[in-house]
Amino acid sequence: MSSTASGKNGTWRNWGGNVCARPARQVAPASVEELAAAVRRAAEDGLKVKAVGTGHSFTSIAATDGVLIRPQLLTGIRTIDRSSMTVTVEAGTPLKRLNAALAREGLSLANMGDIMEQTVSGATSTGTHGTGRESGSISAQIKGLELVTADGSVLTCSEKENPEVFAAARTGLGALGIITAITFAVEPLFLLTAREEPMPFDRVLAEFDQLWAENEHFEFYWFPHTDNTNTKRNNRSAGPEQPVGQLAGWFEDEFLSNGVFQVAQWVGRAAPATVPAIAQISSKALSARTYTDIPYKVFTSPRRVRFVEMEYAVPRAALVETLRELKAMVERSGLRVSFPVEVRTAPADDITLSTASGRDSAYVAVHMFRGTPYQAYFTAAERIFTAHEGRPHWGKVHTRDAEYFARVYPRFGEFTALRDRLDPERLFQNDYLRRVLGS
Ligand SMILES: Cc1cc2nc3c(=O)[nH]c(=O)nc-3n(C[C@H](O)[C@H](O)[C@H](O)COP(=O)(O)OP(=O)(O)OC[C@H]3O[C@@H](n4cnc5c(N)ncnc54)[C@H](O)[C@@H]3O)c2cc1C
Repeated sequence: MSSTASGKNGTWRNWGGNVCARPARQVAPASVEELAAAVRRAAEDGLKVKAVGTGHSFTSIAATDGVLIRPQLLTGIRTIDRSSMTVTVEAGTPLKRLNAALAREGLSLANMGDIMEQTVSGATSTGTHGTGRESGSISAQIKGLELVTADGSVLTCSEKENPEVFAAARTGLGALGIITAITFAVEPLFLLTAREEPMPFDRVLAEFDQLWAENEHFEFYWFPHTDNTNTKRNNRSAGPEQPVGQLAGWFEDEFLSNGVFQVAQWVGRAAPATVPAIAQISSKALSARTYTDIPYKVFTSPRRVRFVEMEYAVPRAALVETLRELKAMVERSGLRVSFPVEVRTAPADDITLSTASGRDSAYVAVHMFRGTPYQAYFTAAERIFTAHEGRPHWGKVHTRDAEYFARVYPRFGEFTALRDRLDPERLFQNDYLRRVLGS
């Protein structure tokens, strides 16, 4: 699941394989100075600029026909400050490298998404999140940012310094400048006990408020065409460490969750009529288990089966109704959906265009195996999500535009006004930003 770029013919392709671009040129700056020079040169040449992470977004948010700035030489830890409990990292650092480096220092982020392949700046620019009752997205853990703006100058921001930039740039969609470094809050390394357990769909919905309230991190997967879910709750633990055994881990996380799952997806794609039967089997394949480990080993797992995804944040209070509608839609539609639906939560945060901005949120993610038509399913799901004033993940498939966002984000105008100030000539514009933010 490494960077997805194809060197062939100078084209760039995302991980999901559904977005492709042909930049005029690609650069990999090794310092902030080199990056600022690349931004100035692009402006002189009349070219747009876009930084890219590892291409794990399913939208065209990172695509450009101008200058593509690659992350690979701008990586590593700059400083760890134990008095303020922060770490400052170069913008192109992959999350997996950050997590491993922090663990070696006895430190950790508070929360993570499902994987850690992405770069810190790519992940936070679209609001990448995991699940949490009190702890929010990766962006919500940012304490400071350094970015190169459209005039080639370096701007730093935090709660105290340029607070209006800090409010927006933590989930900046790549629209405000090129991030060169991020400072995250860290805490002493801790242990999480994970409890994974199958549970009937109706029971999860009936007990959702309680499951959410009783666990620091609660999430579940529902298997369409079945009444089955797999739930996962992670809570801080005093130990002792009890990692998943090597063999059991390989069997559940590699063989079943990736190997067998991949074969099931191939069969389902070739013969869609088999999907409901396969879903019945897949939803029962994983048994209950409990393990205790350091945070990133509990939060993340390898995802090798390629898919395309749409995910919306709805108000947490609307989750149960949203899911009932989604299930009813799948049942009456004749659609064949071979990928589970993932459900997570986040507390309200104070980031201008975070999907959880000012609102306690629940996330519902629908997926389709790569190469399977997803349009009909996603269109029907999106109709349900938008009826609940859902906010789409900025990096996952959706069809919303600036007019819609102005309605569901009370602070939308604040973001676009800041963009007018920082990037009046729209150096960082691409087709995606034109659609979601306006010209
Ligand atoms: C298998 C898989 C699992 C995923 N799991 C989750 C999950 O659990 N939770 C979740 O919320 N999302 C998840 N995602 C979505 C993913 O985290 C986001 O799309 C994320 O933005 C991808 O990061 P990236 O490094 O690949 O960035 P890219 O997709 O390459 O870029 C994303 C955006 O960041 C901008 N950007 C990159 N670098 C910079 C920079 N230096 N300065 C300014 N802007 C920059 C780009 O221009 C673009 O706008 C998943 C995606 C996949 C494929």
